[in-house]
Amino acid sequence: MQVALVTGIGGQDGYYLARLLQEKGYRVVGLVHSTDNQALEERLPEVSFVRGDVTRSAEIAEVVERFQPDEVYNLAGFSFPPASIADPVEAWRINSTGALNVLEATRALAASKPDVKFYQASTSEMFGRSQTPPYDEATPLRPETPYAASKAAAHHLVASYRTQFGLFAVCGILFNHESPFRPPHYVTRKVSSGVAEISLGLRERLELGDLGAVRDWGFAGDYVEGMWLMMQNSRPEDFVLATGVGRSVEDLVDTAFGVVGIGSWQPYVDVSPELVRPPEENSPIGNPEKANRVLGWKAGTSFEELVGKMVATDLERLRTR
Ligand code: NAP
Repeated sequence: MQVALVTGIGGQDGYYLARLLQEKGYRVVGLVHSTDNQALEERLPEVSFVRGDVTRSAEIAEVVERFQPDEVYNLAGFSFPPASIADPVEAWRINSTGALNVLEATRALAASKPDVKFYQASTSEMFGRSQTPPYDEATPLRPETPYAASKAAAHHLVASYRTQFGLFAVCGILFNHESPFRPPHYVTRKVSSGVAEISLGLRERLELGDLGAVRDWGFAGDYVEGMWLMMQNSRPEDFVLATGVGRSVEDLVDTAFGVVGIGSWQPYVDVSPELVRPPEENSPIGNPEKANRVLGWKAGTSFEELVGKMVATDLERLRTR
């Protein structure tokens, strides 16, 4: 039985990836950081959980040595870009030093298990906003936030482990992907939960920032399939995963209200000047052509299906709480 170690298993992608790997017959070992163990065990009953912190090199080395994984997926991350502006040091510690620690532990394992593979959760944020989209694997990295800079450092480290040590190490450069597991501070979830509350009469209005901001939003369940496919590729290479289509926050609002049968959403939405960020030079849209051609991967879930899933799950949560 193949063993996969997933760091960041308590997060959104960790959940979908663990489910996918189990469906494919892997034994999944999940590194849990501060997330409540009991909730995770209920969600993913067959995963072996181990507590650990990627910033502690000895701890990670011990976990990798103990479980001898065939595939290591480093999803652990300081993952909310705006928060990295308030705490760049922590973003660096987790995203750069943490990734280096997991890479080092994997390299040590490769001495006795040369076929071990490593996946790094890179991000479209590394491209910044100064270049004309769509962005692909050849687009230069021009990070603008501490989050993006820390992820870019890890991205380059992975390439150096490939070149210097011959490690099968890949980076998935993922554009925004969402699901009902997105935390409430992300705009997609803020909208899905707000719309669900409004439709049930639990709240009157939704406060948002710039409705014109555009993102390339896909469904996390599709993106973890792309991660796994990258690890099965004959050569270690990086891939962009994206839908290739940009949708505005206004589209998101319109679609979410449509799900609950509210056609005219304007009376329920306030645009708060405090939440409006400076206008973006370009919108981050990806080009998934390489993943499509080489891996046969495609973001299968439409924007409408994604928003529908998120609103339906929030409605269900509110009705059963
Ligand atoms: P997420 O829900 O925020 O999950 C991140 C996970 O990392 C959490 O379970 C967290 O555990 C864990 N973690 C944080 N600090 C850690 C540490 N020091 N040691 C071990 N684990 C630690 O993020 P996600 O949306 O699933 O994304 C997964 C990865 O992909 C992240 O690295 C993210 O930056 C990257 N990414 C995400 C997107 C996206 O749109 N979702 C796009 C591009 C890249 P605790 O909560 O217990 O601390």
